[in-house]
Amino acid sequence: METAFERIAKTLKGKPVKYNRFIKFSSHKIQPHDARSRKCIRCNRPEAHIGIHGLNYCRQCFREVAKDIGFRKYGKEA
Ligand SMILES: [Zn+2]
Repeated sequence: METAFERIAKTLKGKPVKYNRFIKFSSHKIQPHDARSRKCIRCNRPEAHIGIHGLNYCRQCFREVAKDIGFRKYGKEA
């Protein structure tokens, strides 16, 4: 599968100055493998993944299971 990054990079191949600029400022967007390989273990959603502490939930599932796995809300309303 071709990512948006690869598609734009291909069109800029003939324009070295613009290409180098694009690589310089957009290289952090090269993460197709990383972004797609991390999925929520509950609903397989690849977006909004929370990998910290080995949770591997998406933000929606985290909201639902956080209480059960021992997280608690601090603040006025607990
Ligand atoms: Zn989920």
